Amino acid sequence: MALLSVVLPSYNEEAMIPVTAQTLRQVLSGAGIQYELVFVDDGSRDKTWKEIKTAHEEDPQVHGVRFSRNFGKESAIFAGLANAAGDCVAVMDCDLQHPPETLVEMYHQWEKGFEVVEGVKRSRGRESGAHRKSAGMFYSIMSKAVNADMSRASDFKLLDRKAVDVILEMPEKQAFFRAQSAWIGFQSAQVEFDVQERKAGHSKWNTRSLTKYAFSNIADYSDMPLQMITGVGLTLFVITLIMAAVLIVRLIIGCPATAVMGSVLIEMFIGAVLMIALGIIGYYLARIYREVQARPRYIIATKI
Ligand code: UDP
Ligand code: MG
Repeated sequence: MALLSVVLPSYNEEAMIPVTAQTLRQVLSGAGIQYELVFVDDGSRDKTWKEIKTAHEEDPQVHGVRFSRNFGKESAIFAGLANAAGDCVAVMDCDLQHPPETLVEMYHQWEKGFEVVEGVKRSRGRESGAHRKSAGMFYSIMSKAVNADMSRASDFKLLDRKAVDVILEMPEKQAFFRAQSAWIGFQSAQVEFDVQERKAGHSKWNTRSLTKYAFSNIADYSDMPLQMITGVGLTLFVITLIMAAVLIVRLIIGCPATAVMGSVLIEMFIGAVLMIALGIIGYYLARIYREVQARPRYIIATKI
């Protein structure tokens, strides 16, 4: 019989571990699915690891990997994939915002032969207008970059062993799981779900971390910002030519003061654009530097 591994990245989730472990046990054994749970404690500062150990004592199908410090959700997902034994591996949040019933549906899709089963958000849950807008912009850039609709994508996925092995073999260290699983291709299916309310604990994201996350993932899959620089440069070049022509005409007809002020403004503008351009190049350069350093994505302190 096939084994399903469920990878659960967990950061400060002491309240959720017992609930999630028990819920998944009920739902999966109820559906007659042979499973293992792989909790990845991403350097939690609360009793998450203790709860994982307790869950393991209650159910030997519960496994745990504990990081030496917080490495972030992407690293936790990757470590979970690397430590999963299943014929297929699912990734889901451990706060039950990804409904376990959907997991069963995804498993059945896998049984039908789909190798990448993506959990797709039917609704995005409660979000502010500004959040929705910036998320929309981010996903439209990402969708272009990986050539697949990412607007409703989530980290809730089930992958066949083949797809897992391909992802594990990809050498990049700063990967974005959500895009990676679309980028690798394979026979894929989508299963819709409604994002649930978090049952306990709180979200680890804020505007700053989300913005950082967005930029880092765009840089991973798209070089659009670098190409944008060329576009802006060309536009500025044309504008400068026009302004130069205007300036000459103005000098001839005799109103030098306004012309001088205008040219100072243009210089400042060009200066600012150049700095931004250098910043974008620097951002990619820093990422290349980090890849070249090839530091591990995570460091494991303990395993059960
Ligand atoms: N998470 C993690 N490492 C982190 C931040 C979050 O493993 O540094 C886990 C977290 O425990 C949860 C999942 O990633 O299982 C999603 O996080 P969260 O619920 O905070 O995000 P949201 O659902 O609000 O987008
Ligand atoms: Mg959550």
